[in-house]
Amino acid sequence: MIPYGHQSIDEDDIQAVIDVLRSDWLTTGPKVEEFEKSVAQFVGSAFGIAVNSGTAALHCAMNAIGITRGDEVIIPAITFAATANSVLYEGGTPVFADLNPDTLLIDTEDVERKITPRTKAVIAVDFAGQSCDYDHLKDICNHHNLHLVSDACHSLGGRYKNRNVGSLADLTVFSFHPVKSITTGEGGMITTDNPAFAQKMYSFRNHGIDTPFIKRNRRCTWEYEINDLGCNYRLGDIQCALGISQLRKLPGFVNRRQNIARKYDTIFDEIPTAKPLLRGEDISHAYHLYVIQLDLDKLGVSRSDVFLNLHSRGVGVNVHYIPVYRHPLYKERLDVRDVCCPVADNAYERILSLPIFPELKEDDFNYCIATLIDVLTDE
Ligand SMILES: *Cc1c(COP(=O)(O)O)cnc(C)c1O
Repeated sequence: MIPYGHQSIDEDDIQAVIDVLRSDWLTTGPKVEEFEKSVAQFVGSAFGIAVNSGTAALHCAMNAIGITRGDEVIIPAITFAATANSVLYEGGTPVFADLNPDTLLIDTEDVERKITPRTKAVIAVDFAGQSCDYDHLKDICNHHNLHLVSDACHSLGGRYKNRNVGSLADLTVFSFHPVKSITTGEGGMITTDNPAFAQKMYSFRNHGIDTPFIKRNRRCTWEYEINDLGCNYRLGDIQCALGISQLRKLPGFVNRRQNIARKYDTIFDEIPTAKPLLRGEDISHAYHLYVIQLDLDKLGVSRSDVFLNLHSRGVGVNVHYIPVYRHPLYKERLDVRDVCCPVADNAYERILSLPIFPELKEDDFNYCIATLIDVLTDE
């Protein structure tokens, strides 16, 4: 089966991990700070806070901006559930906004419609690797005094109007899960220019402790204080060494994903039964996913039929994502305003994610294309 996503690990990555295993620091040592500085510098932000997953990064962000019971946070209807769960962790209420039907990015008009006196923040998700319209979202958030958080778990290495993803919102969240742009096995990071947020998150990821062990060690003291409740969300030196090594290859990875996407684009110019998501102008797309929307009327079959047909032939397509509010956990918490996201509901019936990752072999890719053409066109 050709998967929809896969990590790329080379000998440099392996050696970087081995070197840490032979060193004194396995967890919060020098590699953590080096990785944080490297990512922050790469994206052009002042601070990077490494944590042990993208989900932990979202939780840190919600804690840093002070989300609490009664607060509402607007998020897109289609995203990975972790985006919404992070709001629940801090007692807040996720409010679902509908999507642009062509890009499946959050609909900025619906965001404005869903703002209430309780709204505290918007989490924009760079679905599939394409940046949201951050200039427009910033205007909306500034006007209503809201925090803007970017869930950029799909878009590390992408750009918006010649600015890097990671420097476009008050806080940006990344994941280093194996299918994402770069991997640390499991891992995540928040980037921000705000020193108060950064300090809060360094502490929150480490039980609420105000100074980490490595700094106490340098200052020759055992003393620390816990002022607020935190978690153990630390990412270790083993993973950060892998992350540093991976980050060097990020531009090449993104380039390879963009080349694959360009070839898919030309194929779908000729296939009337499916169309890829629309790419905006002034965007360098990171292509975590290559998503198509099926024309089910023209096809005369369901998405499930297409999915199973492709799987039976070894093409491991996937579906990203079930609208979050359809999960029983969320159905039980639904607010009347959340019931209606018609674009998301309609899109969910017809989306498919095709194989795309840097090491997708030429032969496998050609096989994917031939199989897609066969399955999606009548003969
Ligand atoms: C992957 C992902 C996350 C969560 O990241 P983990 O590292 O798996 O915890 C959150 N949001 C989106 C949009 C993601 O794709």
